[in-house]
Amino acid sequence: MDIKTPYIWKNWEFLEWDNTLEHNLTHTLHYGWWVFEGIRFYDTEKWPKVFRLDTHIDRLLYSAKVMWMDLDYSRAELIQATIDTVAKNGEKSGYIRPIIFYWYGKMWLYPKGATIDTAISVWKWWRYISDDAITVKVSKTRRIHPATTDMAAKICGNYANSILVSLEVHNGWFQEWLLLDTEGFIAEGPGENIFLVTADNQVFTPELGTILPGITRATIIELLKKELWIDVIETKIMPSELSSFKEAFFTWTAAEVTAIWSITQENWEKVLFSSGDENSLTNKIKKIYLDVVSWKNEKYKNWLY
Ligand code: PMP
Repeated sequence: MDIKTPYIWKNWEFLEWDNTLEHNLTHTLHYGWWVFEGIRFYDTEKWPKVFRLDTHIDRLLYSAKVMWMDLDYSRAELIQATIDTVAKNGEKSGYIRPIIFYWYGKMWLYPKGATIDTAISVWKWWRYISDDAITVKVSKTRRIHPATTDMAAKICGNYANSILVSLEVHNGWFQEWLLLDTEGFIAEGPGENIFLVTADNQVFTPELGTILPGITRATIIELLKKELWIDVIETKIMPSELSSFKEAFFTWTAAEVTAIWSITQENWEKVLFSSGDENSLTNKIKKIYLDVVSWKNEKYKNWLY
């Protein structure tokens, strides 16, 4: 699958896709000092529209602040640059990746004074993972501890943890991983938040602290309340409690709502779920979410740009 699009936006100009290479001594390349976002835009009855762009840009600017990056442009300018990049590339739907990083000029760890670059790429990404219910394994690698980083920021360095988890290959038996925090509670997937549903449709999700506060997570919490009158319970959940749930699903920008078919615990005990069923709550909220992101639900049209 070729994800290539014609242009990448960089520091207020459009460069050709193949013409954006960085210098070998780019600070970011050595120490991972960069921040990013993952955003989706959707084919709608009008023009391609970007879902919750303002919220994503706010998280990006928060991440940049955590990393002490002095930016010489505004939130509004960055929002406009993202919209322009989508329009310029002519794709109807896909993924958007803004990054802010320290460029060439300083080689010591303290990077203040190095030049900051900002780039926005757009690529074609129809499906990130299977649309059917997936198999999940609890990883042996634990989620990074909140005392060691800022969990609410999308900082490149935090992703070494997610990649390490994704490398735990079990002969292709599993499609995704679930990380526990250092105290043994359920945290999140390497790139997604998790929700669990009881037989009487109570919905639970791990509380903030050891997880990225996902924008899809917040959207699903709001939609469950406003559309299905369900108050999500944000709390600590032990893996030993998994068998008391009937459904489980992941939420993430890249793949929206992903039903979970099974979670295999650290001790190889397997818990099965009915999340993939046609009449499951997972399926219901997935449909509501997909309608909202494709600008079909009047009430949430202001979430799209
Ligand atoms: N957790 C982690 C670790 C992530 O990287 C992501 C984003 N890929 C998420 C959760 C989901 O966040 P969002 O819904 O904002 O995409």
